[in-house]
Amino acid sequence: MIIVVKPNSTDEQLRHIVDTIESMGLKADLSKGLHRTVIGVIGEEDAVRNAPLGAIPGVEEVLPILKPYKLASREYQKEDSVFDIGFGVKVGGGNLAMIAGPCAIEGEEILFEIGKAVKAAGANILRGGAYKPRTSPYAFQGLGEDGLRILRKVGDALGMPVVTEVMDTRQVEIVNKYTDMFQIGARNMQNFNLLSEVGQTRKPVLLKRGMSAGPTDLLMSAEYVLAQGNKRVILCERGIKSFDSSTRNLLDLALVPNIKGLSHLPIIVDPSHATGRPDLIPPMALAAVAGGADGIHIEVHSCPEKALSDGPQALLPHQYEAVMGQIRKLAALFNKTIPEAKG
Ligand code: PEP
Ligand code: MN
Repeated sequence: MIIVVKPNSTDEQLRHIVDTIESMGLKADLSKGLHRTVIGVIGEEDAVRNAPLGAIPGVEEVLPILKPYKLASREYQKEDSVFDIGFGVKVGGGNLAMIAGPCAIEGEEILFEIGKAVKAAGANILRGGAYKPRTSPYAFQGLGEDGLRILRKVGDALGMPVVTEVMDTRQVEIVNKYTDMFQIGARNMQNFNLLSEVGQTRKPVLLKRGMSAGPTDLLMSAEYVLAQGNKRVILCERGIKSFDSSTRNLLDLALVPNIKGLSHLPIIVDPSHATGRPDLIPPMALAAVAGGADGIHIEVHSCPEKALSDGPQALLPHQYEAVMGQIRKLAALFNKTIPEAKG
C-alpha cells in the first residue's frame, strides 16, 4: 500500500503516521517528493490489506500497489530517481553514468593507464573487478583485497568514483571499505542474502540483470536492496542467454523503456558483456543512449591480448574515445548530461 499524506503536513504529523504504522507491526518507508509525501507500507500481504491505514489522521489517500515490487515501482515514486555517486557524479534523471575500465584489476600501473585514458575520453566512473566470477575455477580469479586497494588508489588519483563486484556476503565489509558502488553480477542477481547484505549498507548498488531474468525478477531483486533502506540501486542490462552463438549474449534493449515504465530506478546498458564483440559495442552503446538508457558500461583495456579476463571484448582506449565522441553528440540531442568526475 502507498499512503499519500495530506499536503502541508508537519514533521510531527508525519512522525505520528509512521509510529502508528509501526505499532501495527508493519514497516513504513517515507519518501518526501517535491510535490507530495508518500509512505510505503510494507509487511505481510494480509496484514497490510487489513490495517486501518485510512483512519490515521493526516492520511489523504491509501492506494494499493498491485505489483509484487513496491519501493521500486513507478506508482511509489513518479519522478526518476537521481543518485549521487560521489566525485560530483550524478546518475539518473538525465545524468548519464559512463562506466569504463578493465574487466579485472591486474596491477596499479596498467589500471592507472587505462583509467587516465577513459577519464580523458569522458568516463565518469572507473570499473575493475577484484573478485571475478569466472566460469572456470582454474581461470584468474582476481587480486582480491590487493586489487581493491589499487582501485581505490587509482580512483582517488584520477578523481573518479569506482565500482567493483562483490560476489559473496563475506566480501561485503571489505569491498565496502574501498568502493563507491557495489556491483552485483549477473550470476548473483538472485543471491538474496547478498542483496540484503548490500541493502544494509548505504552505498549505491549496480545490479546486473541475470542471464535468464525478466523485468519482474530484476525489480524484485532491486526490492531486496531497497527494503533494507538502501535507496540507491542502478539496474543494468547486460544481455540474456539465447540460441544464437554469434554474440556472447543477446542484448535486450527493449528492457530499458520497459523498465522506465515500471520503475523510477535508473537503468544502464553494458554492450560489452551483452555482445562480447568490439565491433558491435559502439553501435549498441549509441542505440542504448537513444533508447533512454541512463548510462553505458564498457570494458576497456590498453592491451586486450594480454588481458587476464574478457580481453577479446575490450575496446582499445582510442576506440572508447571515438564512441564517447558520438555518445556526447547523441546526449546533447536528447538533452542528457554526462557529469564530469571531479577529484
Ligand atoms: C563484469 O562486469 O565483469 C561481469 C562479470 O559482468 P556480468 O556479471 O554481467 O557477467
Ligand atoms: Mn568482464
